[in-house]
Amino acid sequence: MSTAGRIERPLRARRIGLFGGSFDPVHAGHLHAARAALRAHGLDRVVFVPAAEPPHKLGTRLADGRHRLAMLELATAGEPAFEASSLELDRGGRSYTIDTVRALPAAIGEPEDCEIYLILGTDNLAGLATWRDAAALIDRVQPVVIHREDESCGSQGEESALASMAQHLGPERADKVRRGRVVLPPVRVSATRLRGELARGASFGGELDPAVQQYIERHGLYRADA
Ligand code: ATP
Repeated sequence: MSTAGRIERPLRARRIGLFGGSFDPVHAGHLHAARAALRAHGLDRVVFVPAAEPPHKLGTRLADGRHRLAMLELATAGEPAFEASSLELDRGGRSYTIDTVRALPAAIGEPEDCEIYLILGTDNLAGLATWRDAAALIDRVQPVVIHREDESCGSQGEESALASMAQHLGPERADKVRRGRVVLPPVRVSATRLRGELARGASFGGELDPAVQQYIERHGLYRADA
């Protein structure tokens, strides 16, 4: 039978990773987490979205959003499945993930019913139930909690966060979060530590993409006297 003229339907829904954060600056740990999520869940693309004002870090002074976005663009340039989006910066104000999830498909040219995989570190798990419209958020996305093997909170801390989530949002939602979990060997790097070292003029091997490091130097970001 001829297939001429027939519209090909994709075999499965598109799978989009959404990785939000302050990315101040983006570092090897973030890329490592995104690669692990991509592999574990067979994602088609991962979109890194720097927050305008992260609700969980209100009052924290961040590098200008345009610099954080530019660094993400440099760090993701070599990986075809990765990209940076200015969605939250363009929206401005407090960056609530539920708003981003609702706007994401249209913003990146994906169908409204695409599957969204929300990538987050275990440090965000305990607070997830208190995020704006948390129940609707977990219903719309598949959370992907990145568990670093060396984390001090360990699996016990994670289990108690999930137990509390089950109480507040129901056991099905907690189970859904548990199912998306990805365990990966740690990359021991943190943006807070990097900013401290950059202020002291330290140089890096492997923790920052060389193009990101050059960008930081060129724009004098994170300097103690900035
Ligand atoms: P800061 O030290 O400024 O708080 P951060 O990297 O923890 O930096 P974000 O930029 O908001 O903060 O992080 C975005 C996401 O990346 C978070 O969900 C965080 O848990 C995760 N993440 C941060 N560092 C690592 C790492 N080394 N490995 C895996 N995931 C990480």
